[in-house]
Amino acid sequence: MTTPDGFGRGTGIAGAARPPAGAGYPGGPLPGGVPVPEALAHLAGGPRYWLPPQPDRTVPAAPAAPPAAPPGGFDVEAVRRDFPQLHREVNGRPLVWLDNGATTLKPRQVVEAVAEHCATGTSNVHRGAHTLAKQATQVYEEGREEAARLLGTQDAGEIVFVRGTTEAVNLVAQSWGRANLGVGDEILVSAAEHHSNLVPWQLIAKERRARIRPIPLLPDGQLDQDAYRDLLGSRTKLVALTHASNVLGTVPPVAEMTALAHRYGARVLVDGAQAVSHFPVDVTALDADFYAFSGHKIFAPTGIGVLFGKRELLEAMPPWQGGGNMIDSVSFEETSYAPVPHRLEAGTGHIAGVAGLRAALRYLAGLDRPAATGYEEQLTAYALGALATVPGLRLVGDAPGKIGVLTFLLAGTDPMAVAGALDQQGIAVRAGHHCAQPALAAFGLRSAVRASLALYNTVQDVDALVAALQGIQAASAG
Ligand code: PLP
Repeated sequence: MTTPDGFGRGTGIAGAARPPAGAGYPGGPLPGGVPVPEALAHLAGGPRYWLPPQPDRTVPAAPAAPPAAPPGGFDVEAVRRDFPQLHREVNGRPLVWLDNGATTLKPRQVVEAVAEHCATGTSNVHRGAHTLAKQATQVYEEGREEAARLLGTQDAGEIVFVRGTTEAVNLVAQSWGRANLGVGDEILVSAAEHHSNLVPWQLIAKERRARIRPIPLLPDGQLDQDAYRDLLGSRTKLVALTHASNVLGTVPPVAEMTALAHRYGARVLVDGAQAVSHFPVDVTALDADFYAFSGHKIFAPTGIGVLFGKRELLEAMPPWQGGGNMIDSVSFEETSYAPVPHRLEAGTGHIAGVAGLRAALRYLAGLDRPAATGYEEQLTAYALGALATVPGLRLVGDAPGKIGVLTFLLAGTDPMAVAGALDQQGIAVRAGHHCAQPALAAFGLRSAVRASLALYNTVQDVDALVAALQGIQAASAG
């Protein structure tokens, strides 16, 4: 079935039929008697999807217990001392950083590593016989090894440095995609994807006359596994899958979905941008063919990221950009290319960024990772309970096991206005479409507020958010 947005079958909430014309919000009740949230009244032209009746999350509920003393000695206060930005003020109030989904703060170890490279360690890498070139090269290649360790591969040659997740997906689409996709081939893309794991596939699909097929969402934000099984077939060449949604917080069953895709000979690219900072990742256990993440979402600087690819895939991929560093020999008659990963890394890389990434990954490796993950899980449970006490708050996405990405609407308010009011109180959140328009559209939305947690957030941060939201709600109601 083709829907008016052109996506075809099943982009919206699975099992939800469209409302009769004029019955959807804004301005009318939802089918099933759910009142139209006033917060949605600003939506011009009405939503493209509607939700079946949702559990009423506006009923005040007792917050979950605060995180208990964390097991394994995860000391959030000690971690907080390492992040200088947590100790500044914004608008005269102590900063409460709840915009970790957009970017994470940097520990001083990362700041120092970048400063050291720029101040006294500057050199290009992989060329030049001098001492500083060798030292910079060592830092650079150790950064690669740290990334390999983080992702659970033994082979640092499977780690390609890129600018970030966006560039990683574009690399795979432009190199692997151009070589492997043909007319009528299908790329399954989950409806929860960030635009950076959709648009690059649209670009190459158009060029190769391949077809994008969305994997739909269930009402709580999980991916519809029945629909996924139905979509898989002999034409499926690639599955593009988030490891943690940046708008719903959903963590799909990537290993199971990858195993299914492999039965059809399809490759799987996993977008780990929101996953890597929250829980340990093992690409070998996942059997992912490609895995991408951005340094800046895991406590490293912007402008550096990682693409993991299975060696045999990377080796078969043609270069996607040409230039220095990626060649073996060059003449006007014939050019041959360096082995992977360098073949896919044309030009001078972001050396200071890799120095920062190495420091960030070492910092993380120095923490008790399972304890940090456990702490974040407890804090997320606490935050979900606390948000449920805010009158008129509607949570978007409550899949079991979700990460601390808390997207919501507040009845009678505009998301951008809510973010602005929170900012006045020193609380940083994001509002808008979160570069995941199809995911929001599946919930009938174009915009929402998002508070997103990291391992350095606390119960006090959550309490500050909830108190501020209660104030905003009371002011808008009064
Ligand atoms: N994928 C997800 C899930 C994201 O949250 C983001 C950024 O918000 C991206 C991809 C894109 O990352 P970048 O802009 O660093 O390339």
